[in-house]
Amino acid sequence: MIEFRQALELLGSEAARAVAMRGFQVEPTPLDEALGRVLAEPLMARLDMPSFDNSAVDGYALSATDRCEFQVVRQVAAGSDSGDPLRPGQAARVFTGAPIPPGTAAVAMQEDVVVSGDQIEVQAAMRPGANIRRRGEEFAAGRELLPAGTIVSPSTLSLLASQGVQSVACRSLPRVTVVVTGSELVAPGDDLAEGQIYESNGVGLQAACKALGLNVQTHLVEDRLEATQHLLARLLDEHEVVITSGGVSVGDHDLVRPACLALGMREVFWRVNVKPGKPVFFAERDGRFVLGLPGNPVSALVTFCLFARPLLLALAGAEAPMATLRACLTRPLRKKPGRHEFVRGILAGGLATPTEGQGSHMAGGLAAANCLIHFPAEDCELAAGEEVEVSLLRWGLV
Ligand code: AMP
Ligand code: MG
Repeated sequence: MIEFRQALELLGSEAARAVAMRGFQVEPTPLDEALGRVLAEPLMARLDMPSFDNSAVDGYALSATDRCEFQVVRQVAAGSDSGDPLRPGQAARVFTGAPIPPGTAAVAMQEDVVVSGDQIEVQAAMRPGANIRRRGEEFAAGRELLPAGTIVSPSTLSLLASQGVQSVACRSLPRVTVVVTGSELVAPGDDLAEGQIYESNGVGLQAACKALGLNVQTHLVEDRLEATQHLLARLLDEHEVVITSGGVSVGDHDLVRPACLALGMREVFWRVNVKPGKPVFFAERDGRFVLGLPGNPVSALVTFCLFARPLLLALAGAEAPMATLRACLTRPLRKKPGRHEFVRGILAGGLATPTEGQGSHMAGGLAAANCLIHFPAEDCELAAGEEVEVSLLRWGLV
């Protein structure tokens, strides 16, 4: 059994080794398909930004700041030419984003100007350069705007488009699949016989992968060694990661680990000192992985967040550490010391409230939660009002 931190370090180092071994394919991706993908190259500015001097407001471009009265000689809208330089005493009507005429000393907001015919009187003191967005004031062409490894968000897309980019080089995604194990499992829609239950991890794990931009299929296998071994062998031929649920504990019918060992996989770790999720299992062969998550529905999804998500993101070449913050606990919590617990909770306005139903078989408590409250291994009591560490349960990437 290893500690949570050690498990994360092992996931990270194994993923780094696999990535170093096979590198990434680079896939040119149109912007409208790039949300959530990972930049294969740093994003370099192609254009100065802004790319010309322009007005920050609707108002008047003034030829000087040391006088109040001007003659308005032309109008410049966004998208049009700024025209000839302003001469002394002249002003131009300008709108937000319009290029300002050469010779503009400042732009007066229209709220500060009294107009009569083609004459204006500026009623505010003007600072030289006021309300002018200068060419290159944000960044100059050639500057690195974002490093390789950035996850493309809506704001990344907008930045790319503002540079005239239509398609962006993205890293290839790892091929991932899901296996749910258990002879008691029946697909929703079928009738249940005595002792059977509906299979519910497959759809959750598949959706958790989908939220990371990975399209995965789910396979169901009974608790039989040969069948499990055969399925895993076949899937490892075509995928970098097989995520399994169930069958990783110490029971006679827990066959994921024996099947992996029979396939010659190397056990990286088995059992982590966390709750929920203690039986989690991780094995490697030729840079490909089986990550065995426990079968209890809450454990399966919580361990997906804790272990599968960082593994998959590392294999996708993305930097995305779990977001943690501090919050005030609203109710006391107790446990035996020794194991790091992740308490399902609701975070709102800086307050963290544990949800009802903390059993690892109680899916309702997870479904209602938006965060995991950290209950450190060494502690046995957290008081109401105490400050705790909280990780947001974010399924998506952006
Ligand atoms: P296991 O880890 O295989 O011992 O499973 C632990 C518990 O989770 C058992 O009560 C299983 O019936 C249940 N379980 C395992 N897999 C699933 C699944 N895919 N959907 C719903 N419950 C499951
Ligand atoms: Mg089972």
